[in-house]
Amino acid sequence: MIVKLKRNTVEQDVKDLISQLEEEGFEIHSSLGQTYQVFGVVGDTAKYDINRLYAYQCVDSVLRIQEPFKKVNRKLKSEDTIIKVKDVEIGGNEIVIMAGPCSVESREQVEIIAEKVKAAGAKILRGGAYKPRTSPYSYQGMGLDGLKILREVADKNGLLVISELMDKDHIGQFEEYVDIIQIGARNMQNFALLKELGKSKMPIMLKRGFSNTIEEWLMSAEYIMAGGNENVILCERGIRTFEPMTRNTLDISTIPIVKKLSHLPVIIDPSHAAGKWDLVESLSMASVAAGADGLIIEVHHEPEKAFSDGAQSLKPKKFEELMVSIRKIGKAIDRKIN
Ligand code: PEP
Ligand code: MN
Repeated sequence: MIVKLKRNTVEQDVKDLISQLEEEGFEIHSSLGQTYQVFGVVGDTAKYDINRLYAYQCVDSVLRIQEPFKKVNRKLKSEDTIIKVKDVEIGGNEIVIMAGPCSVESREQVEIIAEKVKAAGAKILRGGAYKPRTSPYSYQGMGLDGLKILREVADKNGLLVISELMDKDHIGQFEEYVDIIQIGARNMQNFALLKELGKSKMPIMLKRGFSNTIEEWLMSAEYIMAGGNENVILCERGIRTFEPMTRNTLDISTIPIVKKLSHLPVIIDPSHAAGKWDLVESLSMASVAAGADGLIIEVHHEPEKAFSDGAQSLKPKKFEELMVSIRKIGKAIDRKIN
């Protein structure tokens, strides 16, 4: 339920209303005093007689939310959320590009790739240090050493760092070495992990699970926000369909749908969607045109030798060309791309 207050209300009236609702067992999610004068009432509101609320002078209107997600819901916060990560803003006018290897393999590898993606316009360096691999025999990542390499190389090149977290015991390491925590498709519904992330202040990029609906994805974001961490970025990375020509099917429709339902920024990962490097540029252009707030792209200087996801990784030269193409789209829709 969302309660909209009248302008110039008496503060005591609002306080009385909130404490009454809390006494009745509801949780209040408010951003009172900011640009909007609304608050959310979370709990079993289905049986609540909303007419009772109109007894309070401060109440302008009451709206029942049909959707099960509240804090994520645009009805509760009409303006776009902008996540500030140091000097980078995600969700504003600028379309932010994250790029780098699938996995951190060595310092030298990260150094070569970071320098190239920075020169081409990326602002955030991606790289997996803890890898969620389908096979236990596949490369599992460098762990903490990988995070340290990402941090050092990113700092040297004026980039920020995003990396995937799989284990709640590593949250401390991520708070120390990375700027954005990525939660991968396979952990989208790891609710114990999401609850822990709710206690952190770190920006979280939550990928959509490959077999999850948009509503399930938004409910996972709700877990993090309900825990107290509102720095959530959503990332569509393709879903499983019957089509074998691509690794996954990029669900472009998530962009306008999520933009309508939620105020959170949406990033697109065309690399994991396509699974093939030669599709990445087209999917990136389409994503920018459809309103994505950023892209996360796998880049490797020697994709043939990559420890993971070489087939979908762009060589630096191709990445540079992609940046040129998406800038043209950005210009057409009046959005900045570095
Ligand atoms: C990745 O970003 O390297 C990754 C494993 O992504 P996803 O969780 O989308 O499969
Ligand atoms: Mn990958």
